[in-house]
Amino acid sequence: MRRQRNAKIIATLGPASSSKEAIQALFEAGADVFRFNFSHGSHEDHKKRYDTVREVEQIVGRPIAILADLQGPKLRIGPFADGKIMLTAGSEFTLDRDTAPGTPQRVCLPHPELFEVIAPGHSLLLDDGKLRLEVLASDGKSIRTRVVTGGPLSDRKGVNVPDAILPIPVLTEKDRRDLEFALSLGVECVALSFVQRPEDLIEAREIIGDRANLMTKLEKPQAMDCIDEIVRLSDSVMVARGDLGVEMPPERVPGAQKRILRACRLHGKPSIVATQMLESMIVSPTPTRAEASDVASAIYDGADAVMLSAESASGAYPVQAVSMMDRIIREVEKDPLYRNLIDAQHEGPLPNRGDAICAALRSVSQIIGATATVTYTTSGHTSLRAARERPTAPIVSITPRLSTARRLAFVWGVHSTVSPDIHSVDEMVEAACKTAVREGFAKPGDQIAITAGMPFAQPGTTNLLRIAEISA
Ligand code: PGA
Ligand code: MN
Repeated sequence: MRRQRNAKIIATLGPASSSKEAIQALFEAGADVFRFNFSHGSHEDHKKRYDTVREVEQIVGRPIAILADLQGPKLRIGPFADGKIMLTAGSEFTLDRDTAPGTPQRVCLPHPELFEVIAPGHSLLLDDGKLRLEVLASDGKSIRTRVVTGGPLSDRKGVNVPDAILPIPVLTEKDRRDLEFALSLGVECVALSFVQRPEDLIEAREIIGDRANLMTKLEKPQAMDCIDEIVRLSDSVMVARGDLGVEMPPERVPGAQKRILRACRLHGKPSIVATQMLESMIVSPTPTRAEASDVASAIYDGADAVMLSAESASGAYPVQAVSMMDRIIREVEKDPLYRNLIDAQHEGPLPNRGDAICAALRSVSQIIGATATVTYTTSGHTSLRAARERPTAPIVSITPRLSTARRLAFVWGVHSTVSPDIHSVDEMVEAACKTAVREGFAKPGDQIAITAGMPFAQPGTTNLLRIAEISA
């Protein structure tokens, strides 16, 4: 079973997509990775979903990756005495440390760390940016503000602070519990929300080690200032446009998206474009033209993957949303302009052996018209470097590790398979040819280009490029 495209699809699971039949239908429609959103649901829910995805993996016979998305330090105001108030532009409103229920004049902000860093002139955004306050004064106990954009405000709505680097850890107590739980299940990747600085990643990596890959959700404008360092320290990066578009004006999100995708391409780290991609399909069986164009643009810009949130988790048309993404991606990838753009954005190989071999793999496969490239990999590194080259022929990845095969589900152009270690060049050629044929990437008479490392069965040795013809 092979996909007819290079870019990948991530589908969030939720109430609309929890049964085995529903998850299998999403996979068959094109979902390569399933996202578990730890902002919702109990551990029991996630465990059940985890087991179901693994069951589907058995049925379909393809490695599937699971992404555990941690909630992160999402800030919220406290409750109101009447559940809800109305804020009018021009009036004053105070946030303080008093835990008493809120009134139309004040409400509790239960995050003591914030009071020290919020200063006059800063903006505070409430309820996904619907309301805006401007800080007039802050004295460590209360923050006096003027309402710039008013509206209704109810209990525990979210607060965004775009103008300050907040002295809060990237993992909350809840995140730490969710993280240990997700790792105990065996997820392939953990996404960190509201990453502000490179140190956040170092801290998380210390806990996670290599038990899972680490994805940064880029949703703080501050993080854009050290984008290269953040990409370098992450295994992959999500353009989390929901919160990013609250924290920065919406007109700046498209440029930020392109810069993030560029940085990821340079470093050869998978990039994911997320949020509101096919938003109207939550309630409608077809997307708006603007949404179709948004998905297509992300692909033209070189994203490794596009993501569905509520569309697949709680919408009325989860399968249709996945197949719509699949159709859009395939259409873009058929367009000669797509290849032009992808090649134009390509930065040459970095000075290391993996990149040298993979650059050769790309040009050799193109010159001889290979129908597939085959990469032997233990950690997944070689297949990632091959993907960085964006070769015209698909990348059939062979690894002895199931966890590596699953982790590669995020990566552009990689079709990953599991088979035991090889021990000689003859074995290498034979297994590569067999795999390419079995997986639908080559037939007798076709040529393939293969990379591997000698000595065999040792990580980090890629140093070999071989051309082979499939025998009859
Ligand atoms: P969220 O992250 O849906 O978990 O908030 C994605 C985003 O902010 O775009
Ligand atoms: Mn977010």
